[in-house]
Amino acid sequence: MHAHVLGFPRMGANRELKWALEQFWRGEIGETELVATADGLRDRHWAIQADAGLDLVPVGDFSLYDHVLDTVAMLGAVPPRFGWSGGEIDLTTYFNMARGNAEKGIPAMEMTKWFDTNYHYIVPELAPDTTFAKTGSRLFDAVESARKLGHSPKPVLVGPITFLMLAKETGGCNRWAHLDGLVEAYCRIIAELDGTCTWIQLDEPILCTDLSEEAKRAFGAAYSRLRAAAVSSRLLLATYFGTLGDNLDLALSLPVNGMHVDLVRGPGQLGEILDKLPSHLTLSLGLVDGRNVWKTELETALRKVNAACQRTKPAQIMIGSSCSLLHSPMDVEGETALDPELKQWMAFAVQKCAEIAVLKQASSTGDKPDLFIENKASLLARGAHRDVRDARVRERAVAVTPDMYDRASPFAERAAVQRGLLDLPLFPTTTIGSYPQTAEIRKQRLQFKKGEMSEADYVKAMQGHIAEVVARQEALGLDVLVHGEPERNDMVEYFGQQLNGFCFTQNGWVQSYGSRCVKPPIIYGDVSRPEKMTVDWALYAQSLTDKPMKGMLTGPVTILCWSFVRNDLSRDIVCRQIALAMRDEVLDLESAGIKIIQIDEAALREGMPIRKADQATYLRWAVDCFRLTAAGVRDETQIHSHMCYSEFNAIMGAIAEMDADVISIEASRSNMELLDAFNQYDYPAEIGPGVYDIHSPRVPDEEEIYSLLHKALAVIPAERLWVNPDCGLKTRAWPETIASLGNMVRAAERLRRERA
Ligand code: GLN
Ligand code: ZN
Repeated sequence: MHAHVLGFPRMGANRELKWALEQFWRGEIGETELVATADGLRDRHWAIQADAGLDLVPVGDFSLYDHVLDTVAMLGAVPPRFGWSGGEIDLTTYFNMARGNAEKGIPAMEMTKWFDTNYHYIVPELAPDTTFAKTGSRLFDAVESARKLGHSPKPVLVGPITFLMLAKETGGCNRWAHLDGLVEAYCRIIAELDGTCTWIQLDEPILCTDLSEEAKRAFGAAYSRLRAAAVSSRLLLATYFGTLGDNLDLALSLPVNGMHVDLVRGPGQLGEILDKLPSHLTLSLGLVDGRNVWKTELETALRKVNAACQRTKPAQIMIGSSCSLLHSPMDVEGETALDPELKQWMAFAVQKCAEIAVLKQASSTGDKPDLFIENKASLLARGAHRDVRDARVRERAVAVTPDMYDRASPFAERAAVQRGLLDLPLFPTTTIGSYPQTAEIRKQRLQFKKGEMSEADYVKAMQGHIAEVVARQEALGLDVLVHGEPERNDMVEYFGQQLNGFCFTQNGWVQSYGSRCVKPPIIYGDVSRPEKMTVDWALYAQSLTDKPMKGMLTGPVTILCWSFVRNDLSRDIVCRQIALAMRDEVLDLESAGIKIIQIDEAALREGMPIRKADQATYLRWAVDCFRLTAAGVRDETQIHSHMCYSEFNAIMGAIAEMDADVISIEASRSNMELLDAFNQYDYPAEIGPGVYDIHSPRVPDEEEIYSLLHKALAVIPAERLWVNPDCGLKTRAWPETIASLGNMVRAAERLRRERA
């Protein structure tokens, strides 16, 4: 019986890889130093796994930027604009693909979310003339390094069908036209790995999604050829992020030696898999959650291992993480400030390795090592902890009545009341919330956090920034103002820190893309709001101006999606608790006299399950949670929401059902392509499609914004069109912010004059 993980976090316990990458990009260190740091981390991570008692170490899961990009490089599928002429891909070409080259004006490859995780991969590009060939020796060298260090290497490859399906077709290409050439290149890679390792892991998470008939056929065709390329090494087909569902028979029919299944996301599939398991097939049980921070229930997991061992030979069972540990933080031992009681409930990557090893030990020896006893005790303590179950929160959830989800009047009636009250011009101008977070602001927040600045001084300092932001917006002539969010480090953490049921790590970083990491809050208990969170800031800001000031909140779905969520309560119930807490804040803002409240749902779309059958259920409760947050206000109060993505077609109905009075959405990068969705669906309320991209310092000119607005007017009636940037401005500097917003206001004014 083999114990293994599907992959390991790359950054290092102190994010060493991040710092080295950024130094390298700034030209402060050279390639040798970067590679030495990277290899050092990789070797250390192998040692952690081996020391924990795992039998195989993944090779090729480590990456300087992204493992899908590594696959592109290994296959030599470099888009022509990067000017690569064959041979080993050098680091300059590699990072140009990831990040573009501003000097030469070469755009980066696109990046998008890896299934429903918060990790972003580089999207392979397939043109009609793309070719594939095995290039370079990185993976093979790494396998050799692992062997030299005394490990048993398990090379990990993104499987060919997942690779093809995640790629972007360009220049009229059809992805399936490349199947043959791609599989050929994979065969060469596998042939070269053959004999250097017992197992080769082929990641095909796409098997946990709805597949077309074409994709299903491609699996059969590809895997029989891959099988032939491996004479002595065994192929492990790795599926994760969900259940195999109607792809189970297909997966079981593929000529591989082993199959990995995710029993955390798909716990119910084990029975059917065991029933159907062919006698030659090794089954790898993904029992330890690679995507969350909680300790595994070892007793429950062991029962599953034992059930599997009864069905087949124990030698044909592997025990593993549900998916790669890439999505979990590194080491809970690094958390010195976390409440020791809560820490007891958690397992990060290092601890997850130990859990897997101990499961193997318990199942093969029949003895329960100490870790089992400790595990049981911590899980019992967790269940009994006072914060985990707050009677008032539970009672309140039960007492929610259907009317709490509905505004008092339909949109048209509210809009009329609001129009009379707010007295806004046609094409009202506004911004999404944050303004430049200067070094001074960040320093003051840090000083306050560390106790080096008194609360009174901190409030005064932040009020100073708010006053400046308000004055600048008035000078620019914006119509609906914001306070600028200087007091917020992050739109989720800021609220989590003020809500019951949340805790925070110091070092629980997870890679988001490249060198970027996020440190999600952890929701461990029932959520409620002990006191007002934003009202004083909003009131102060409103006191400085006669123009309407938006109260700014983060919505419940976004708070949920960007946190590690407790696994002892379903996500929709946790989300409803957050919604009720945020509803209190909405009502407090309203009674304090704030007339417009924006509830950001930046993550609503990314929370969508990967299976179509689950999507409607998700959208139902996600929309309900938004409505529960927002719907308590009077008709006079205008509810805004903001979403930073533009692929709206699939969820247009759900967006409309949120029943916000105004939504702002990202649109400029796609040149208002999203408006197609509004063409096909008659969106009933007011909309501000973003008129410029806030991700770069580029200043859009008035003409450009004006013409985008004209495009928008083709599908959005004038009286429902708002004018705003794509997203918040916190990553921008002041000079470009003033210049861009000035042009935006002038473009709106020009449009108004035309209509007058
Ligand atoms: N109100 C937030 C801001 O402006 C919204 C950020 C977001 O959508 N990601 O920063
Ligand atoms: Zn946004």
